[in-house]
Amino acid sequence: MIIEVEQLNKVFKQAVKKPGLAGALRHIVTQEYVTKEAVKNINFNINEGEAVAYVGPNGAGKSTTIKMMTGILHPTSGVVRICGVEPSKRRIENAKNIGVVFGQRTQLWWDIPIRETYTLLRDIYELSEAQFRDQLDMLVTLLDMEEFLYLPARKLSLGQRMRADLAAALIHKPRILYLDEPTIGLDIVIKKKIRQFLKELNHSNHTTVLLTTHDLEDIEDICERIVIIDKGSLIYDGNLAEMKDTYAKERAITIETTTPILDAKKRLQDYPTIQYEILENTNMIKINFNRFETRATQLLNIFTQDYEVLDFKIDEPKIETVIMKMYSGNLSQAMQATCDL
Ligand code: ADP
Ligand code: MG
Repeated sequence: MIIEVEQLNKVFKQAVKKPGLAGALRHIVTQEYVTKEAVKNINFNINEGEAVAYVGPNGAGKSTTIKMMTGILHPTSGVVRICGVEPSKRRIENAKNIGVVFGQRTQLWWDIPIRETYTLLRDIYELSEAQFRDQLDMLVTLLDMEEFLYLPARKLSLGQRMRADLAAALIHKPRILYLDEPTIGLDIVIKKKIRQFLKELNHSNHTTVLLTTHDLEDIEDICERIVIIDKGSLIYDGNLAEMKDTYAKERAITIETTTPILDAKKRLQDYPTIQYEILENTNMIKINFNRFETRATQLLNIFTQDYEVLDFKIDEPKIETVIMKMYSGNLSQAMQATCDL
C-alpha cells in the first residue's frame, strides 16, 4: 500500500472576529473560536500504480486531505502514511516520493526562465546531471514545452504554466503525483493534452495518481477508481465503471423515422414504466428506460416493424449527474439519474 489513510480527521479552529470595541480589545477579552471539521474519520488505501479520483463539492475537504498527504498540514487525529512515512513528521523524506500540482498556484519562480527553476529543483532533490537531463528531456517532449522553456513563468499562458508546473512536480520522478484541480480554467485542447500525458504517466511509469477535479471528464479519462467525499466524510469508494453500472441505470434511446410516429402510446402500452416524448418538428421519438428492465433492441424492434428507421442513438446519464446526486447523500436518487442533464 503506497498511500494509507486511517481514521483521518482535521479540525480547523478559527478565532471569531468581533466588530467594534470587543474586536479591538480581543487580546484582553477571552477569545472565542469556531471549529470546522474539514475532514472526518476518512479511511482509504491506494496501491502503487492506481489512478484515483478524489471528488466532492466545494468545501468537501479535498484540498485539506491532500495537504495532510503532502505534509503541509498535520492531522488533528488519525494517520496518513505515504510510502510508509508520515508526511507531516518527515516532510523532506516524503517530498522525495511525491510531486504536487495545485491548479490555483504555481511552484515556478515568477521572474526567471522556467528552465532555471528546474535547475534549482535538480539541486534541491540532489539529482545527478544525467538523471536530470533524461527526465527533463522526456517531460519537455511529452508536454510540448520547447517553445517556452526559456521564458519566465510570468510570461506563460495558463496552459503553458500548467504544463511547466507538471514538469516541475515530476522532475525527481516521484512515485506519487497529487493533482488538485489541474485543469481548472484550461481550454479543451490543453485539457486533452494534459489528460493524455497523465494517462501515459500512470500506464507507462506506474506513477500513482491522486486527482481532485471539478471536471468529471478528467476522471473518466484518467481514473479507474473514484473516492467521493462530502462535508468531510467519505461517501463512496469504488471502481468508476461499477459505480456507473450500479447507479446509472437509466438510458434514453432516440429513434428517427422517415415518417411521423403517431401511435407511440399504443405501441409502448406493454411498458407502463417507460416515458417517451416526440421531439417537436421532427420524426424523432425519445424513450427513457431502465436498462435492467428493458433492452434497447426491444424498443427499436417495436418501431422497425412498421416504420423505416433512419437513425437511432442511445444516451446514458453523464457521470456528473450521478455524482451530483450522490453529494446530497441520496444514493437512491443517484440511481435515478436521468439522461438529459
Ligand atoms: P475542497 O478542497 O474540497 O473544496 P477544503 O479542503 O479546501 O475543501 O476545505 C474544507 C473545509 O475546511 C471548508 O469548509 C473550508 O472553508 C475549511 N478550511 C479549509 N482550510 C481552512 C483553514 N486554513 N482554516 C479554516 N478553515 C479552513
Ligand atoms: Mg480544494
